[in-house]
Amino acid sequence: MSTNHKTTQARPNQLPAGLHAWLLDCVPAPGCGICTANWHQLCTARDNGNITKAARHATEIRDHVSGVHQ
Ligand SMILES: [Zn+2]
Repeated sequence: MSTNHKTTQARPNQLPAGLHAWLLDCVPAPGCGICTANWHQLCTARDNGNITKAARHATEIRDHVSGVHQ
């Protein structure tokens, strides 16, 4: 009998869908290279289920209006 029962899955934190939408809610500024780059990375991370990373890119995009980058 096999006793190979080691399941060490690093599971990402599951967040409610509504929270995802809120975390990822952002609009990349037209013509801004940083926003565009972050937007692509956000979509990739989201598609990979990496919401934490996607949310970080959303934050970068939101920072545009506060003048953190231009
Ligand atoms: Zn920007």
